[in-house]
Amino acid sequence: MTWWGWSLLLLAGALTAWFIWQAREVAGRAAKAEQEATRREAERAALVAQVGALRQRLAQVEAATHDALIVVDDAQHITALNYGGRALFSDVVGRSLIEIVRDADLRQAVADTLADHRRRTLTLTAALRTYRVHVTDGGATATLAFQDVTDLHRLQRARRDFVANISHELRTPLTSLGLLCDALLATTGDGDNGELVRTISSEVGALTTLVTDMLDLTQIEDGRLPLRLAPTQVTDLVEPVVSRLKPQAEQKGIAVMVEIETGIQALADPEKARRVLTNLLDNAFKYAYANSQVRITAQRSAERRADGGDILFTVADNGPGIAAADLPRVFERFFKADRARERGGGVGAGLGLAIARHLVEAHGGRIWATSVEGQGAAFHFTLPEA
Ligand code: ADP
Repeated sequence: MTWWGWSLLLLAGALTAWFIWQAREVAGRAAKAEQEATRREAERAALVAQVGALRQRLAQVEAATHDALIVVDDAQHITALNYGGRALFSDVVGRSLIEIVRDADLRQAVADTLADHRRRTLTLTAALRTYRVHVTDGGATATLAFQDVTDLHRLQRARRDFVANISHELRTPLTSLGLLCDALLATTGDGDNGELVRTISSEVGALTTLVTDMLDLTQIEDGRLPLRLAPTQVTDLVEPVVSRLKPQAEQKGIAVMVEIETGIQALADPEKARRVLTNLLDNAFKYAYANSQVRITAQRSAERRADGGDILFTVADNGPGIAAADLPRVFERFFKADRARERGGGVGAGLGLAIARHLVEAHGGRIWATSVEGQGAAFHFTLPEA
């Protein structure tokens, strides 16, 4: 064979090797692609199964939720409802919320939540039922949970009516008992039974206060004690209370300091604001150590609201103070921070601060307590500035 023939043969051999190599490469790549496709398919199937399981779990939760849930978009159109939602409103997807629930406050709450992404709760009455509606942000959507609290409201009303009726019924015999004690005291004088009758009279007094407090609290809770707001000089709120309770302080040798910023006025119902101060001051004198000090201050608050300022009142004593864990609870009705102290006598039923809180909140103010245990307690509340 000539060199020409050898060259052709070599070229043919090289080409064949190259083709074989290429064919292997392609086959390898095809196998890899097939493997990849199988892996992707397995992943997809796993995801589909996961979504299916999640859907099933969601459906279970949805079926177990009695609350009606509806989702609205940023134009307040309904985009989804759960089973409870459909039961309450029927299938209203696509309709606007205000068409379904004609309540301007709800519409405003949803708009506010969509704007500031904060959760809101409001109470709504529709078709003789009461709902607590929680509005939660979901990005460009809001979720509304309608919780039917009709039965709870009925129970609360029944409890309030019961307490009010009992208190009302007890007042008459207690008044008679008080009068009988006075009559007995007039006849026995300081004789043998005098001390006994005085003790009975003081217990009747304590019971009368408790019954009056219970009655007042139910009336305040029911909104049956309407406020008569008027611009009132803060000195006219504080001074009468201090002079009325001063004998209590004097008995224990407590020094009373009053500091009121000049000329400040609160928008308040004077009688009710004085009741708040009375309850706080009465506690301060009750709990302050003998020969210590009680301070009452009133000034314009540093915090300003959009619609005006607040007057900040503080009543601070040098008593045993309140444990940190008890601080938020002292405003609950019948709460007593220290059970041992109540046995020491002279301590009330635990309604004074609950009444104070209701009255302050009815004015649109806030009430709270601060304390370092062992170093005294301070009660603060705000009333709108006039
Ligand atoms: P009470 O009639 O028992 O004083 P309140 O509602 O006025 O009821 O107060 C609730 C509880 O808060 C009290 O029982 C007491 O434990 C605690 N408390 C209130 N004021 C003070 C205070 N100035 N110092 C310490 N504890 C206080």
